[in-house]
Amino acid sequence: MIASQNGWPVLTTAPAGRLAWITGRVLPGPVAAVFDYLARRIDAEVEHIDPATSWGWNDRNIRGSSTTRSNHASGTAVDFNAPRHPRGARGTFTPAQAATIRAIVRSLDGVVRWGGDYTVGPVDEMHYELVGTPAQVAALAARLTSPPAPTPAPAHHQQEAPVIIRRASDGASFYVSGGVGARILNGTDLAAYSGAGVETVNLSDAGYAEAQGRFLK
Ligand SMILES: [Zn+2]
Repeated sequence: MIASQNGWPVLTTAPAGRLAWITGRVLPGPVAAVFDYLARRIDAEVEHIDPATSWGWNDRNIRGSSTTRSNHASGTAVDFNAPRHPRGARGTFTPAQAATIRAIVRSLDGVVRWGGDYTVGPVDEMHYELVGTPAQVAALAARLTSPPAPTPAPAHHQQEAPVIIRRASDGASFYVSGGVGARILNGTDLAAYSGAGVETVNLSDAGYAEAQGRFLK
């Protein structure tokens, strides 16, 4: 097997993975999912990605090398907005943009490397490539594409302020709180709750009866 620089097999024909962000292809499945996530965040947080000048698979050697296959050859590298960030040019992003790129890349579990951070050879600020194993890339893709945990619906009663329900005709009362439930109050409790600032709702006999049916089951 011929491998590209990162150890992934070289593909002599275009892989099947399509990305809305680029002209060309990448490996389908987890690789495409990781690049899609990366591109979505670059586009939203760094700069708009122009698909006409953004590329993927290309079966070629690393530029300047006669022996090492580019990671583009295995469908595991992409270039975004190539003309604006030519290979070898440093500082094509503002410091803030570069910091954002690094923060995004850092959030990807060590699976993605940005060409702007190359320490060997010319920097390549248009370029992003996978440096993880297939298992690492699959795990990251699963994390990125799994739906967020559902937020529990707030219990309606727990959002309501506690209240004292009082029958206007004779002062009979009970206390309602979503968390505690409802209970009948004796005179001492009633004074304590009223003193604590709990609102009292005075109801007609009919209204009180209805509230009793609802809260004091
Ligand atoms: Zn590239």
